[in-house]
Amino acid sequence: MSTLVRPHGGGSLKPLLLPRTERADEVRRAETLTKVPLVSREVSDLFMLAMGAYTPLEGFMGEEDWRGCSTDMMMSNGIFWPIPITLSCHADLAGSIGIGEEIALVDGTSGVILAVQTVTEKYTIDRELECREVFRTTDTAHPGVYKVMAQPPVNLAGPVIALSEGHYPDTYKGLYHRPAETRAMFEANGWSKVAAFQTRNPMHRSHEYLAKIAIEICDGLLIHQVLGALKPGDIPADVRSSAIDSLVRNYFVPGTVIQAGCPIEMRYAGPREALLHALFRQNFGCTHLVVGRDHAGVGNYYGPFDAHHIFDAIPPGSLEIQPLRIDITFFCYKCKAMATRKTCPHSAEDRLAVSGTRLREMFAGREAVPEEFSRREVIDILQAYYDGQMQGA
Ligand SMILES: [Zn+2]
Repeated sequence: MSTLVRPHGGGSLKPLLLPRTERADEVRRAETLTKVPLVSREVSDLFMLAMGAYTPLEGFMGEEDWRGCSTDMMMSNGIFWPIPITLSCHADLAGSIGIGEEIALVDGTSGVILAVQTVTEKYTIDRELECREVFRTTDTAHPGVYKVMAQPPVNLAGPVIALSEGHYPDTYKGLYHRPAETRAMFEANGWSKVAAFQTRNPMHRSHEYLAKIAIEICDGLLIHQVLGALKPGDIPADVRSSAIDSLVRNYFVPGTVIQAGCPIEMRYAGPREALLHALFRQNFGCTHLVVGRDHAGVGNYYGPFDAHHIFDAIPPGSLEIQPLRIDITFFCYKCKAMATRKTCPHSAEDRLAVSGTRLREMFAGREAVPEEFSRREVIDILQAYYDGQMQGA
């Protein structure tokens, strides 16, 4: 009997991916259906559905669930869900599709068939309402708001049968593990209390410290990378992965860390997104999610600890997974150690602070990055990456 946390909703995992042996026939059949193109966020959501990360969803949401998730973080079946998962379509194309009709969902960039959806509902949403509720702003300078406001006006709802996981299983071989697979790995390790540490960046010492706090109080740690489309200027996944690999190899006890990644695309919805990130980590088998400063935030749209507070504002029992809320971490030259404001009594000038912008400047100028900020092995990998960028520029 598994001692792992139950999937969200309390049932079993619901991966929507058709078994491999049945896919070729279904793709041929899908060729004959009306094709609806997906933007990159929708493709990511489809792959999350395919792998079972969005259990218990069975497809893209209808109007009642869209509204319930936007305003009350709850679907019509009473299950907690903090961000609507929807599929948008241009009005003229939507007009040609009948209720009950099957459509082929295709990658809007490549045209490759990804899934078949049975359309149960067509509806128009109030995009400003979604943005106000989910992002707490309607400012289109916010990258998540921009995408919602730019999406076409009609949403198509209905159950989905996924036929592809795109390039992810090949591109991220050894990292692309579905929820059923991470659960099997946790069980094989005898873990039941597992923390997820999400990252879309290389891990510096502050991240290492967060991860190790989690390991101190759990059986093991899942370092879980965001593999979906990133913001310009983010470190590419392969560079990030090799930096994280070298950190884990040199500074973590063997058998305490499992690495994986999933195809989620960041919405930068701050606190609401922290809840979604927790929800799907529960599906991966995690009991805890490390939530640091400004989790899933962007710019100055959210307070640094809004993502901590929101876990207290949701109804009890909404999620089984719990946040590990940790303050800003830093190296203190007086403590001669990593610390937070809870454990270091000294003042700001004793503490090492390097902003992301300053760090990029240091790499660009080949300045020495302090080893109190980042491990030598990680600095070397990042310096080589930035040197290559400079040559290419
Ligand atoms: Zn100190």
